[in-house]
Amino acid sequence: IHLVETADLNKKEIEFILDEAKKFINFNKKRVKKSNLLEGRTVFNLFFEDSTRTRTSFEVAAKRLGADLINVAVKDSSINKGETLLDTMTTINSMNPDVLIVRHPEEGISKRISMNVDACVINAGDGSHEHPTQALLDALTIKKKFKKFENLKIAICGDILHSRVARSNIEILSTLGSNINVIGPKTLIPKDIKKKRVKIFYNMKEGLKECDIVMMLRIQKERIVGSHTPNEKEYFKKFGLDYKKLYYANKKAFVMHPGPMNRGVEIDSRLADDITRSLIQEQVTMGVAIRMACLEILINNRDSYVN
Ligand code: ASP
Repeated sequence: IHLVETADLNKKEIEFILDEAKKFINFNKKRVKKSNLLEGRTVFNLFFEDSTRTRTSFEVAAKRLGADLINVAVKDSSINKGETLLDTMTTINSMNPDVLIVRHPEEGISKRISMNVDACVINAGDGSHEHPTQALLDALTIKKKFKKFENLKIAICGDILHSRVARSNIEILSTLGSNINVIGPKTLIPKDIKKKRVKIFYNMKEGLKECDIVMMLRIQKERIVGSHTPNEKEYFKKFGLDYKKLYYANKKAFVMHPGPMNRGVEIDSRLADDITRSLIQEQVTMGVAIRMACLEILINNRDSYVN
């Protein structure tokens, strides 16, 4: 009844979420986008870290399903008066919410919260750890293009070390049967990444060979401590994706990026905007459908559980 870690999901469950989300793709194209599936349900957005896409995407998703969504302005909350995060969560829990959507810089915090509240908890990013709905929306974007996951080769490139998007995608996409090439500078690749279906590369030319998807990541400056932030120009030269480097991948390879992008650092601006190669806008569109599916499934599951 929670969505906090991707490893909790098996292949069947992931496929079920993707199938449910598919229904909402067309729904989201309608002129009137309102359903009563979650009417009377209460969803809280609790974002303790910056967000544009994820927060608004959950808000749009909840409202289109008829739920009441409350955005807690964390900056104005009692956390500033010294209240602990868990106290804030149990306070909100006492208002009988159905779902708490949590983003926080601390790894594992969503899991801890989920063990202390009755509501369903969705992890919307916990530090460098996980971002499950991002990986699910990426999977939906890939499925729409390729119809399958088996035998696909997907490159995930850049700051893997600090990326919750990378961690969640590696888990979900490998569970679905894709092969993954992780590419980046040695300093930005974690030591514990060895996994079935995952290969590590330290240069784009070798790593991009035969890839169907090239997923670029932002350098997480806010999480880099000390003097390890790479020089941006140097970084772009070696690891930034432009048309020239994309040429190393499959002829029809598509480009993805979870956003926010740093144009000219990890991705060439023209390529990012090239809708014949870039799925970046499509990812955002799929994000709403995935979050609608996750809200619906979690709340339905909880209903059958509680009664
Ligand atoms: N928006 C994504 C995240 O919250 C990726 C990023 O910030 O670079 O993890």
